Amino acid sequence: MRDGGAKETRVREVLRLCANMDEQAERLYGELARFCKDPDLATTFAQLARDEAEHTGWWEDLLTAWEQGLLPDIVNETEDLEQRLSTLYDELSAVGATQLAELDQDAMLALAARVEFFMIDPVFSELINLTEPARATRRHAAYQAHLQRLVDAIGRYYDPGSLAGLLASVLARTWQDTQRLAVQATHDTLTGLHNRRALYTHLPQWAAWSARYGHPLTVLLVDIDFFKGVNDEYGHATGDSALKAVAAALRRAVRSADLVVRYGGDEFAIIAPETTLAEYDDLTSRILTTVRTLEVTDERGRHIPLSVSIGGTVALDPAGSVPRRVDMLLASADQSLYVAKRDGRARVGPPVLLGIAEELTA
Ligand code: GH3
Ligand code: MG
Repeated sequence: MRDGGAKETRVREVLRLCANMDEQAERLYGELARFCKDPDLATTFAQLARDEAEHTGWWEDLLTAWEQGLLPDIVNETEDLEQRLSTLYDELSAVGATQLAELDQDAMLALAARVEFFMIDPVFSELINLTEPARATRRHAAYQAHLQRLVDAIGRYYDPGSLAGLLASVLARTWQDTQRLAVQATHDTLTGLHNRRALYTHLPQWAAWSARYGHPLTVLLVDIDFFKGVNDEYGHATGDSALKAVAAALRRAVRSADLVVRYGGDEFAIIAPETTLAEYDDLTSRILTTVRTLEVTDERGRHIPLSVSIGGTVALDPAGSVPRRVDMLLASADQSLYVAKRDGRARVGPPVLLGIAEELTA
């Protein structure tokens, strides 16, 4: 459980405000649907209201996860955000049904655009990304569809050259840019894998998850053997192709819930939640084989033999334990990797077992 420090209280407040904001937006869209004289636009507002009800549920899920200590600290500018959120929330709350009934179509669409302009702030995307990857992807798609409904509605009533038309395209473009930048900030350009920054967001969450529920967590470090030699012998461009091929091989070798990260130059990290010591051997030997059988060639068609060394740690603690620290998990995996390298490479180091991992598999 959270201990309720000042920053934590603020993050909770931010999540609660997000839920309240979407509730407020649901109410507004519901009223707009009721009062709007144009049946087509009224249908759009009704749909937007239904979307908002779904969004409220997302924040409530995140809030629950937060209360249980399952989310890392990521919102840095909480104070400023909380301020802006509550100002807008107060404004929206103050807009009563009577006023809404009197709005003309322009003013109704302008009000909707204001709500959505606020909700495309990058921080909301970042918060959504804290949910598990598959749900975050679905939620982004759902929000994209929600926003598009409003943009399309504006497009049906206003000429693209009008001020309202411009507003709609700014709204759509800002959202797209935010999404694109969020991907760039968390992914490696060469391999398309998640980057180190993403690792430091996701690993604490999984550590918290496994400590809370007493489930195993495996962390692997995978390093290409003699990779400097590959660059020296075949050139840097071929080295890049080899890195991409290894990255793709790692993705194929893991389960869809596992997170593969480019940790450094020729080193990768894998978070494999729910992976026990018994499954460790399967997973790591699958990785060794997949990389060994890669068909990477240079521009002259020469085959490039590739292998990796793997180190890992398996943590298993009783439910309700204090989460393992990220640097500790990575240092343990690194210790195991060191042994794999020292003992000749192209192999798996003995996993460092943390907590009760050893007893349970004995
Ligand atoms: P070891 O088996 O001990 O891991 O030996 P190694 O040669 O793989 O290790 P070392 O750390 O000496 O070399 C890693 C090399 O990875 C050096 C660096 O030039 C190369 N490298 C890092 N990033 C990139 C990249 O983006 N592209 C290419 N082509 N090479 C890279
Ligand atoms: Mg290496």
